[in-house]
Amino acid sequence: MEDISNTHIVKRWWRFRTQSSLWANFLQNKYCKRAHCVTKVAISSDSHTWKSLVKIRAKIEPHIVWKIRSGNSSFWWDNWTGKGALAKIFPGIGRSAKLPVNFFFDNNSWNFAKLLNFLPMQAAQSIAQITIDEQNGTDFPIWQLSDDGCYTNKSAWHSIRASAPSSPFLNSLWHKRIPFKISFLNWRIFKRKVPFDDIIGKFGTDRRSMCVCCRVPTYETIQHFFVESEIAHQTWSFFGNPLGIRHTDQPIPAIFKKWMDCKYTNNVQKLILQVTPLIICWELWKQRCSCKYGNQRKINIGKILYHGIWTIKSAASKLFPPIRDMARWTEICYTIEKLRPITKWWQVLWEMPPFGTMKMNTDGSYITEKGTAGIGGILRDCRGDLIMAFSITVQRQ
Ligand SMILES: [Zn+2]
Repeated sequence: MEDISNTHIVKRWWRFRTQSSLWANFLQNKYCKRAHCVTKVAISSDSHTWKSLVKIRAKIEPHIVWKIRSGNSSFWWDNWTGKGALAKIFPGIGRSAKLPVNFFFDNNSWNFAKLLNFLPMQAAQSIAQITIDEQNGTDFPIWQLSDDGCYTNKSAWHSIRASAPSSPFLNSLWHKRIPFKISFLNWRIFKRKVPFDDIIGKFGTDRRSMCVCCRVPTYETIQHFFVESEIAHQTWSFFGNPLGIRHTDQPIPAIFKKWMDCKYTNNVQKLILQVTPLIICWELWKQRCSCKYGNQRKINIGKILYHGIWTIKSAASKLFPPIRDMARWTEICYTIEKLRPITKWWQVLWEMPPFGTMKMNTDGSYITEKGTAGIGGILRDCRGDLIMAFSITVQRQ
């Protein structure tokens, strides 16, 4: 929620900086009459809106780049070089907000001598290479986080949101072949956000309900219901035994890990090992809800197994359609274990280019985690002889 709220503040800052409106002019005149808005410090008597804008400013200002036209941007405080405000790169006194970029123009080019009076040689040289567009328009802002330079809430949200490190294990709960409701329930189980007494007890209640899953009822906890109860043992063993997975009273994440780390020989088996634990929890949960909140008197193991197999079959049917006609779980396990991927192969030949021409073959690859990419190519003549070849590693900025 905080990220969404901050995204709207970013949008307000973008509008304040880039659009002329009554509201923007009011803020400009109230708070930034003497200092540039990028450098103005908020004080406690300022309005809540202005203080929230100042708070978010440092995160967002580097993404607003000014494309120079007539050069009306602030030389020191607007980010028109794409590297940030010059006043922050070269701190010092006399960084006037009123000094415009066009002070350094000489007709249609840069006055290098003037630049040197204010900046070191290297900075002046790199500024002198910035092209000046037609000078008959005001400088215009570019939102760097989108491809077209226009502001979007989506890109702003991605840049400021605090995202938790992604966990491959939690990601595996969101399996694309099963309905969202099943993934969501399993995510709640892992985050311990399901209404069992041991979880609700943390909020100060002292309820101790008896379970509905055993012949001799005992106190119900999340671990008892999904792992240790009679019904849980029967269900996990029914689905696990034909696959060689023995059910033991471990914590729920360890049980899931055992299933998901299990060795597989083909993609259908891999899919079944991934989705079955999720579906087991879902079917157990449905039965518990029917007993606790519906009219059902006791848990029906037959329904758990039947519906479980049906859901697993529909998850795997796209990958392996014959599974639809199989009724028994042991038959499904036996068949998918015997499946072997069909290997296809074809010969790839390099064809010579027509006489008098050359041929360039290129390729590239990208490692998402490291942000590195490699590109390469080879140039041959019409007889197939090598002329030149290259390979370059490219690093994300
Ligand atoms: Zn029980």
